[in-house]
Amino acid sequence: MPTQRVVIVGAGIGGLVAALDLAVQGIDVVVVEKAERPGGKMRELSVGGTPIDAGPTVFTMRWVFDEILGNAGTSLAEHVTLRPLEVLARHAWDADARLDLFADIARSADAIGDFAGPADARGFLAFSARARDIYSTLEQPFLRAPRGGPLTLARRAGLSGLPALWRIAPFATLMGALGEHFNDPRLRQLFGRYATYCGSSPFQSPATLMLVAHVEQEGVWAIEGGMYRLAEALVRIASTLGATFRFGNAVAEVLTDRGRTSGVRLANGERIRADAVVVNADVAAVAHGLLGAEIARAVPKAPIASRSLSAVTWAMSAPTDGFPLARHNVFFGGDYRAEFDAIFRHGRLPAAPTVYVCAQDRDVGVGPRRLTSERLLCLVNAPANGDTRDLSPAEIEQCTERTFSLLTRCGLTVQRLPENTVVTTPAVFARLFPATGGALYGRASHGWRASFQRPGVRTRIPGLYLAGGSTHPGPGVPMAALSGRTAAASLLADLASTRRSRTVAMRGGTSMRFPKTDNTG
Ligand SMILES: Cc1cc2nc3c(=O)[nH]c(=O)nc-3n(C[C@H](O)[C@H](O)[C@H](O)COP(=O)(O)OP(=O)(O)OC[C@H]3O[C@@H](n4cnc5c(N)ncnc54)[C@H](O)[C@@H]3O)c2cc1C
Repeated sequence: MPTQRVVIVGAGIGGLVAALDLAVQGIDVVVVEKAERPGGKMRELSVGGTPIDAGPTVFTMRWVFDEILGNAGTSLAEHVTLRPLEVLARHAWDADARLDLFADIARSADAIGDFAGPADARGFLAFSARARDIYSTLEQPFLRAPRGGPLTLARRAGLSGLPALWRIAPFATLMGALGEHFNDPRLRQLFGRYATYCGSSPFQSPATLMLVAHVEQEGVWAIEGGMYRLAEALVRIASTLGATFRFGNAVAEVLTDRGRTSGVRLANGERIRADAVVVNADVAAVAHGLLGAEIARAVPKAPIASRSLSAVTWAMSAPTDGFPLARHNVFFGGDYRAEFDAIFRHGRLPAAPTVYVCAQDRDVGVGPRRLTSERLLCLVNAPANGDTRDLSPAEIEQCTERTFSLLTRCGLTVQRLPENTVVTTPAVFARLFPATGGALYGRASHGWRASFQRPGVRTRIPGLYLAGGSTHPGPGVPMAALSGRTAAASLLADLASTRRSRTVAMRGGTSMRFPKTDNTG
């Protein structure tokens, strides 16, 4: 049998991980990426000559990458230097109200006790136990498994797992569930923010998303030199294993032959033959026909209203003063419900946004440290309508003013220099990630069904697979990586069974048959 070739459309994390897993198995992998560099949302910007992480900054679930690199015969430690953070995040509401969460749960409980009283400290411990329970209930049958509906999930959990599944309270909202644990509304706001890790509103997301709290308690790491080093490492290892990378090449069409994928056509007209294709672009690009009319039916078109959050970000190098920044910092706006109503109901930037600040030169994150100028990524949530309207310079200025005046009220002075700042709006994200409107996390996790509505890795088109944060199990670096792994495993299993049916067909002298594919992968 000749070597099988797989083309991967997109060098985001899901695409890179699928490339690596397939290259390990001796597949001839060609990754075609429209950008000049890998990483997708995991991007690094050069701001005044300084490299700044402008995408993901919170690195969790390191075991996912330990397993991926271990499978490739190497280790994460050989390629990137990770340091565990003692302070998970520093939170502020004004100049006086501050709260740190620590890697050590008991220390967080003490801090919460001092901040909001002993009842909320006890509530936090109960909440953490519940988050752990949800995570361990879902890890094997949902996060690590191919997509399945609620019944498949129940079947995978088995009879003994059913009580735990029920305890998850899938029909409660995250905000509702937080009300059972915390009296202080600021704590409900803090833990409700975990819904935004999936690009969603805590008022509409299921309580299941409290599992993010457990994921953070299991460890948050800083990658020396920035998150982008991880994307580079994946490219390096996959290249060593024989994968080819074609940067600066957009795929215009995924080609099919008798209903099965047969390769891709690039925007420059070049064709690359393939036995299978993995699309790492957002699934909306497939559904909206941006990769060809033939494969548009591979996944259902999600309504525009189901899009997750976009963002406005400021990647900057600036002198700071006052507030003792940790590596991860959150400055809360006054009215959380109004913030999500503005974005999801009215398609507007919030009047009083919550601001996330990653201070990339702060390491372990304890105590103040004076730096003449430091690298910051500041982010506020925004509606994903960048395909229909661009923010005007006046709107960007107003948003900037609101963002940085909150920081000032909380005691942080940032001396912004326009030449050392790169602003990214939803319209820019929409151009980087076509068909999304700038939505950064696929469809929003609103309602109990949402987690089951993300497409799986297998599609209705034989030989076409999906990988990335818009597919099962969901967004975030480790989740996108898990989807890349599931895509590679499903593809390999299908190729092996295709090979078997070919062999049988050729021996029997009958025509070739391909195994049945469905949309449950
Ligand atoms: C500002 C920001 C902050 C975030 N913070 C965190 C965080 O702290 N922690 C965390 O875990 N996650 C975070 N995330 C989410 C995380 O970055 C993503 O979920 C994850 O990186 C998505 O990976 P992906 O596999 O879906 O690929 P993507 O990153 O979506 O990449 C897809 C790739 O496909 C390419 N492509 C698209 N169409 C074509 C085509 N036609 N031809 C060729 N190439 C194409 C694109 O150029 C892109 O490179 C953040 C995201 C953003 C934007």
